[in-house]
Amino acid sequence: MKQIVFPDEDSLDCANRLRSVFDALPMAIALLDETGIVTALNDAWEVAARRDCFIGHDCALGADYRQACAASPVSEAKLVADAVTALLDGEGNGATVSYDRPRNGDGQYGHFRCAVVPAPQGETRGALVIHTDVTVETEARLSLQEREAHFRSILDTVPDAMIVIDETGVVHSFSVAAERLFGYDAAEILGKNVDLLMPDTPDAGHAAHLCRYLNTGRSRVVGTTRAVVGRRKNGELFSMELSVGEVRRDGHTLFTGFAHDLTQRQQTEARLRELQDEVLQVSRLSAMGQMGAALAHELNQPLTAVVNYLEGGRDLLDNDPPRLDQVRRALDLGAEQALRAGEIIRRLRNFLGRGESDTHLESVARIVEEACALALTGARSHGVTVTTTIDHSQPDVLADRIQIQQVLLNLIRNAIEAMEVCEKRNLTIATRGREGEVEFSVTDSGPGIAKDVAAKLFQPFFTTKRQGMGIGLVTCRTIVEGHGGRLWVEAGADGGTSFRFTLPIPSTGGDDDT
Ligand code: ADP
Repeated sequence: MKQIVFPDEDSLDCANRLRSVFDALPMAIALLDETGIVTALNDAWEVAARRDCFIGHDCALGADYRQACAASPVSEAKLVADAVTALLDGEGNGATVSYDRPRNGDGQYGHFRCAVVPAPQGETRGALVIHTDVTVETEARLSLQEREAHFRSILDTVPDAMIVIDETGVVHSFSVAAERLFGYDAAEILGKNVDLLMPDTPDAGHAAHLCRYLNTGRSRVVGTTRAVVGRRKNGELFSMELSVGEVRRDGHTLFTGFAHDLTQRQQTEARLRELQDEVLQVSRLSAMGQMGAALAHELNQPLTAVVNYLEGGRDLLDNDPPRLDQVRRALDLGAEQALRAGEIIRRLRNFLGRGESDTHLESVARIVEEACALALTGARSHGVTVTTTIDHSQPDVLADRIQIQQVLLNLIRNAIEAMEVCEKRNLTIATRGREGEVEFSVTDSGPGIAKDVAAKLFQPFFTTKRQGMGIGLVTCRTIVEGHGGRLWVEAGADGGTSFRFTLPIPSTGGDDDT
């Protein structure tokens, strides 16, 4: 490096020019002679010296810099004074003392660079102390780090796994959720190809897929969300929902994938289906009670026919000669009717399916939440605003959960159907405690119930719907009364209808759940 030669001090013009450069420099500079006396200070020094905690802030021309350091309250001052002493003693060429003083949220950051000012013959002519304030840069860096840490903590908390890969499929970032989902530590996967996280099927090669995308600009994945298969470290394959976004930077592309494990959702859906099946079975069972009479009637017909054909056959045998062809025909027809009766009984048995009621102590909240989940599927998309108000302070009720859910399901479906003709569609499902019982209510903002309809509401087979069966409300009442409760209807506050029913709260103990 070329050595800077100080111009001859006699050259006034040159000295003036140097002085203006010296003053224009952004860093604060003090020139010391070989005894440590300050011989020059630039404008930036004068500005910096007005600040608190600036080393040598009471420095003036002609002052001893090291004494000024000794008077400074700043802890680094002694280090700066020692560095200057070492330089003036001819030890080393320079030293840097950095400081970082975070205070009340903001701070001061900088460094003092102490350097030798050599004389032309090589001996020490004095020293330079250069102060550079790096507060702005440091604070910018710290705030960037803080934001990055914040961002990181958000990503670490997001339940979805996040994986960042480059255009060759190499993994650059692997979040904590990704570690949990795939069973790999980030360190094991960073720098490796993302294909490790996919099954070995020919189509699953993500690197190849990305290549194709980068070449053609067409992607099945970027910008969309789709279900794909992932592979955990233990080799287990699982379904996940993958959303991929891309960032182009400096001619490179990074892809960020958010993966959501579908296993749990699938389990929940399976449970929901199971629940629906159970409810459906109870529905059949309850309907059975109401339809028994109708079925008995149906059974009566073939049995009567069988008797008639048998008696007819017997009479034909008494003929002389017996009319065997007609006897055979009568027996055939009788057998046909007997089969029909058997078929009706078989259907009856299938219809009954599930066994008798199953009573346990059940949480009111669980009963309502599950029933709502079943009944309200799609209700919101039909423009129905649903409000659920559950009194969580209520003790458990003694109930066959599935049967009570069946009641709620019927009432909710009726309410939704009633509101189909209305503009305003508000549905409120609520529970509240009454003396010794819990009251459930399903209130709609539908058209309400006309007087003549109200009188027949709980009659079997009464319906105003084209596809209706008219057994829902009767079944509901039978179930509720079977539980020792009551079911009734009121006009809703909103102009619609409010169906209400109660279930008794078991008086004491409550740990007997049979
Ligand atoms: P279904 O729904 O098969 O008709 P239900 O016994 O459940 O049988 O209902 C009987 C009748 O009661 C319905 O056809 C309807 O006229 C009336 N109803 C039931 N719920 C409501 C309601 N929330 N608002 C108005 N009418 C209702």
